[in-house]
Amino acid sequence: MQKGAIRVQTENIFPIIKKFLYSDHDIFLRELVSNAVDATQKLKTLASVGEFKGELGSLDITVTLDKEKKTITIADQGVGMTAEEVDKYINQVAFSGAEEFVKKYKGQENGANIIGHFGLGFYSSFMVSGQVEIFTKSWRPDTQAVRWECDGSPEYQLEETEKTSRGTNIVLHINEESEEFLDEHRIRTILEKFCRFLPVPIKFQDQQINNTTPAWVKKPSELSKEDYENFYKELYPFAEAPLFWIHLNVDYPFNLTGILYFPKITKSYEIQKDKINLYSNQVFVTDEVKNIVPEFLMLLHGVIDSPDIPLNVSRSYLQGDPNVKKINAHITKKVADKLDEMFRTDRKAFEEKWEHIGLFVKYGMMTEDKFLDKANKFHIMGDVSGTEYYTLEEYRTTAAALQTNKENKLVILYATNTVQQDSYIKAAQAKGYKVVKLDTLVDAGFINQMEMKWENVQFTRVDADIADNLINNEAQTQSVLSEEQEGKLKDLFGQQLPQPNIKVELKGLNTAEQPVIVTRSEFMRRMKDMAAMGGSM
Ligand code: ADP
Ligand code: MG
Repeated sequence: MQKGAIRVQTENIFPIIKKFLYSDHDIFLRELVSNAVDATQKLKTLASVGEFKGELGSLDITVTLDKEKKTITIADQGVGMTAEEVDKYINQVAFSGAEEFVKKYKGQENGANIIGHFGLGFYSSFMVSGQVEIFTKSWRPDTQAVRWECDGSPEYQLEETEKTSRGTNIVLHINEESEEFLDEHRIRTILEKFCRFLPVPIKFQDQQINNTTPAWVKKPSELSKEDYENFYKELYPFAEAPLFWIHLNVDYPFNLTGILYFPKITKSYEIQKDKINLYSNQVFVTDEVKNIVPEFLMLLHGVIDSPDIPLNVSRSYLQGDPNVKKINAHITKKVADKLDEMFRTDRKAFEEKWEHIGLFVKYGMMTEDKFLDKANKFHIMGDVSGTEYYTLEEYRTTAAALQTNKENKLVILYATNTVQQDSYIKAAQAKGYKVVKLDTLVDAGFINQMEMKWENVQFTRVDADIADNLINNEAQTQSVLSEEQEGKLKDLFGQQLPQPNIKVELKGLNTAEQPVIVTRSEFMRRMKDMAAMGGSM
């Protein structure tokens, strides 16, 4: 038997890194700037534990574009590297120095906020460069600066160089196929996308492009309502002010920070997904947060940041990752708790926002049973009169006496269009029934789902054959017409009604306003609605 270590041949791995590691070439800048940030954060950590005793000085990171020389330079004033470190961290592909550092300094200030994890990020520079140079000088006193150079083949050169200041300059000689990156606008756009909230100042052509302390990294207690609103504006300059927000701040058993904003959503909304951005230690990762954020909250806006989600996330990875599942469950819980608190502390304000939040709540109740359990306490239905809102329990309390059917189910009467169904609503109200308005996009599906999820509840549209379903309705459905009169009227109405399954009732409602009522069974109506939707609900 033979045991051994698998040896990765650099000849084989290079083309793989270059072509397939990242399908998106833009991210070479993210990787190199992240390394510069890591190097800077490491220096701060060393200073805070007293290992580095010198002047920190400016720690700005600069990105410079030289169109003539066809170079992009990323320069930092962080820890730098000695010749041995270059050999260890750069020459050994896939040996991640970041991981080693985090293990050693875990628990120290900045120690855990190191972006790199895989030891491959640096090599993404070869996706766009024919040649890469590193000029670096370590923070350690009396070390010789070195220059490393490589053209993307497994051979490199390492030699002494003149560099007097601490830190690292990475010089990319952009290859011919990648000349698009020699465009100032392009580079600025990429930096703004990935580096907008990095914790160390990043300057491009002398202009700082990032906000180093975005609201989500601060403590909720440090932030005012205005701060939250201003940060929202920074993220979405053209959006209307948000309704409210949730500041996420967890450090155990996983790391998660962020702010989720509830935007104003009305019936005429346009679905704007992908408004939540995922960050990892303030580096932008993606705006595809499926799986991380529960589906019913995909319409929220804001930022979530978790170093427990690696930078090069793939969708298949996210699905199976246990941290992602925990984060997803945590967000659901936080949102439910927040809504519950709002409902309990200021019900009036909650009701005023219902038009906007109802959509989330209903969709969440339909899709997440854990959310449903909590939402049952704060989900409300608005009376058609516009003055009252009921939770399910409240509706049961006020309506059960009159609105219980023969199967002993609570019958929730609802209207989908208060204008068209006005006469039915009035008739129902005259009998003392409570009619709620369920007229939004999700309501048809919501009604079907809740009849399954809620115990002993049946929804009946106000223009359906309600009376047949209710007990205690004998007196109200007594006819005031003679049999002959009924027969004539029925024939007359029947001729005018083109659709089958419509029932003409002439039993009279003991009211002069509505001697005749035309209804269709709730069941038949829903069958028709479903057919119209292609049977998809
Ligand atoms: P990772 O960041 O995942 O560790 P990289 O390939 O991006 O992997 O970088 C490899 C290692 O090279 C880093 O961990 C770090 O030790 C070193 N390194 C890269 N860039 C710098 C830099 N600008 N300053 C100091 N060290 C660096
Ligand atoms: Mg890195």
